[in-house]
Amino acid sequence: MTTAHGDVETPAFMPVGTQGAVKGVTHRDLESIGAQILLSNTYHLYLRPGDELIARRGGLHRFIGWSKPILTDSGGYQVFSLSSRRKITEEGAQFQSHLDGSPHLLTPEKAADIQANLGSDIAMVLDECLAHPADAASARASMERTLRWAKRGRDRYLQLRDDVGSRTVRLKPDATFDQAQFGIVQGSVFPDLREESAERTVEIGFDAYAIGGLSVGEPIDVMYDMVGRTTPKLPGGLPRYLMGAGTPEDLVEAVARGVDLFDCVLPTRNGRNGQLFTSEGRINIKNARYAEDDRPPDPACQCYTCRTCSRAYLRHLFAVGELNAGTLNTLHNLHFYLDTLRRIRESLAFGRFESFRLLFHESLSRQLQDP
Ligand SMILES: [Zn+2]
Repeated sequence: MTTAHGDVETPAFMPVGTQGAVKGVTHRDLESIGAQILLSNTYHLYLRPGDELIARRGGLHRFIGWSKPILTDSGGYQVFSLSSRRKITEEGAQFQSHLDGSPHLLTPEKAADIQANLGSDIAMVLDECLAHPADAASARASMERTLRWAKRGRDRYLQLRDDVGSRTVRLKPDATFDQAQFGIVQGSVFPDLREESAERTVEIGFDAYAIGGLSVGEPIDVMYDMVGRTTPKLPGGLPRYLMGAGTPEDLVEAVARGVDLFDCVLPTRNGRNGQLFTSEGRINIKNARYAEDDRPPDPACQCYTCRTCSRAYLRHLFAVGELNAGTLNTLHNLHFYLDTLRRIRESLAFGRFESFRLLFHESLSRQLQDP
């Protein structure tokens, strides 16, 4: 995948830098473990410090000091999950900030404007994030609204791209607009809606496509089925992005179904909570059984944490609330995710993905998982 800030080898995992930083680790750490692209959250940056302030600083890349690609979400997911008193109308999503209660309106046009100000390499169109479970009628209504919003978001994006005067903040008089915009397929857990949503989103015509509304509590086999139904309807030559997924096993299974791009808070959030993903399953570093365990978290891992820390030391750091505990755990978890994707890419390049897939699941399933 080629972006204005460089190429991304796919399939790829995007660490989540919610506030313009991945919690607990520096950009230098991210570069050292091979992160190629970051995800940042439009909702949070819009509220603080504000997209116009960031535009005046020269855009998100310059503001946060990250020169590689950045993808921004539309802000919709956080409006649905964080803000209070949200109300969805045809115009957009009315909500109150989770910080100070101030009222805001996020429309498809506004989501495109904010992301243009941020200057991310990839912008996401605003979609409606339907809660799970939903009945067929509300899933259809939501899918239809998402399609109408997609058309409006695309029109606004094209206007911003082609008409310099339409931008609220101009970085430089001669600044080129080299942002791509992805459309999002919805349709809840209904295969026919997923297929129709994919076909009609492709008809609108985006630079690439994402699958949204999954990994929200539906059974795992349903998620795999929805992904498998959707990807054949999306153009094969363009990246396909599965939003918000998932466990390492989910990533392998989604790649098997044609997905190229992932983001998930699991490696970072779970790392801060003491859960480590390893090649032998998950371990919970809080457990007393690690108090005198001199082994690294994952004997097969080459990350800084595994090269320098024992489970006993990491358990101690966590127990006393040392800041480094979150940093070291996050570093390992992100390394595990990025390395898993690297191994997937390598197996694809050598035509042995299917054997990788089998071995990966075998390795995880024969090990004890901590509670
Ligand atoms: Zn490690």
